[in-house]
Amino acid sequence: MTALFQNYGRRPINLVEGQGVYAWDSTGKKYVDFTSGIAVLALGHCHPILVNALKEQSEKLWHVSNLYASPQQDRLAADLVQDTHLSYGFFCNSGTEANEAAIKLARKHTKKHKMITFVNSFHGRTFAAMSATGQEKVHSGFGPIVETFEYVEFNNIVALQQAVDDETAAIMLEVIQGEGGVNTVTPAFAEAIQKICDDTGILLIVDEVQTGIGRTGSKFAYEQTVLKPNIVTLAKGLGGGFPIGAMLGTADLFDSFGPGTHGSTFGGNPQAVAVAQAISDTVLTADFLGNVQASSQYFKEQLTMHFPQYEVRGMGLLLGLALDKPIPEIVAACEEIGLLVVGAGATTLRLLPPLNVTNAEIDEAIALLKSVLL
Ligand SMILES: *Cc1c(COP(=O)(O)O)cnc(C)c1O
Repeated sequence: MTALFQNYGRRPINLVEGQGVYAWDSTGKKYVDFTSGIAVLALGHCHPILVNALKEQSEKLWHVSNLYASPQQDRLAADLVQDTHLSYGFFCNSGTEANEAAIKLARKHTKKHKMITFVNSFHGRTFAAMSATGQEKVHSGFGPIVETFEYVEFNNIVALQQAVDDETAAIMLEVIQGEGGVNTVTPAFAEAIQKICDDTGILLIVDEVQTGIGRTGSKFAYEQTVLKPNIVTLAKGLGGGFPIGAMLGTADLFDSFGPGTHGSTFGGNPQAVAVAQAISDTVLTADFLGNVQASSQYFKEQLTMHFPQYEVRGMGLLLGLALDKPIPEIVAACEEIGLLVVGAGATTLRLLPPLNVTNAEIDEAIALLKSVLL
């Protein structure tokens, strides 16, 4: 018996405690957690910096409405756009909300409504974000979806060129399709997208909900491409486990997102902002990002060395191992021996350690993976 809707295919594990890369279930069994709550726990479980930030803020002020000024939100937004071509930020509570804001802003600014997204993309579960998602199974059963999205094959330049027209408001993509199979945008496709946007004024929205805030070894994944988005969306790792989302945009969009256009009761909540500020201060430094790149390099080398039969995909610490076996069985076998991993698409195993993972912890995960895969 359960009092819960069964909208998730939950694994039968009840995690009750976590520390860094490790988590323990209610029977005391220990796991190496290479899901990080699906790219959320940027610093692993219960990092002292985040625990302290939350503790301090929770004793000062829990909530303040966006009726009032927020220098804290202002500082976090300034830090997120620092050293980029972006100028402004808006805070919400999740990835789907960040994309909802982006879709509304792009439509309002361009006064057009057609948008191009990609097959196997994932942008969230609210109505517009669900409709933006290029996966039939996500739309199924909900009746007419928002009809103004057109789904183009990812990395297919000709198909993209054929899909854009005078009515197109925006192109929206993930640099790496996280849910869709750890599919990375090709350099040629990124170039084609940017050229179309430069030539036509079509807005570019990059969904960095999974790839942002250091996950790929740079502040944002688009920085490792030629893409220059007008709008960037964030969530997952931004709060390190505390719910927060954000939309960042270029200066020319400012007037299209004026008073009364959009909002959120909880968006930019002081506790969420305090934790996200601590994440920003810790993760968005050259030293920390350099370590993510070094860990990524090491992890990729180890995966390639021990599993030469499988393709290693992705960037930074958003890696995928393209298997030829059914993912649910592999995930269950990994859990059995104490390793938490998650699938992506039909046949890809996604590996998402915390960004501060050590080489010894990577070795530990590799050893566990070997006992399942070899
Ligand atoms: C997880 C995810 C979302 C949705 O975020 P929620 O916080 O679950 O609403 C959107 N886009 C991408 C790329 C994601 O990985």
